[in-house]
Amino acid sequence: MSIDIESMKKRLVEQREALLDVAASAKEAAGTVELDQTRVGRVSRMDALQAQAMAKESNRRRELALQRIDSALQRIEDDDYGYCAVCDEAIMANRLEVDPGALLCIECASKAEQGG
Ligand SMILES: [Zn+2]
Repeated sequence: MSIDIESMKKRLVEQREALLDVAASAKEAAGTVELDQTRVGRVSRMDALQAQAMAKESNRRRELALQRIDSALQRIEDDDYGYCAVCDEAIMANRLEVDPGALLCIECASKAEQGG
C-alpha cells in the first residue's frame, strides 16, 4: 500500500480548516438574517423556521464531517490510518486519495450505507 500519510494529513487539516471557516461565516449569516427580519418584517414565521431548520441541518452535517476528519487525524496519530475501522483490512489507496477521511473499507462502507 502506498499512501503518503503526510499529504493525507495535510489534506485533512485543510478540510478541517475549510469546514471551520464555513461554520464561522454561517454563524455570521444567521445573525444577518435575524437582523433583516426585525427590520423588514416581511419574512413569514414559516420561512424563518424553515431557514432555521436548514441551517441546523447543515450545521449537523458539518459537525459529522468534522468528527470524521478528527477520527482520521486521530488514526494517523495512532498509526491506524488506512485500515478499516470495522474489519481492520487495508483501505484501498485510491479510495483514500478520493476521500482522505474514509474510515471504512469499501465493503464495510457499503454495508453501513445499507443500514446494517
Ligand atoms: Zn472493512
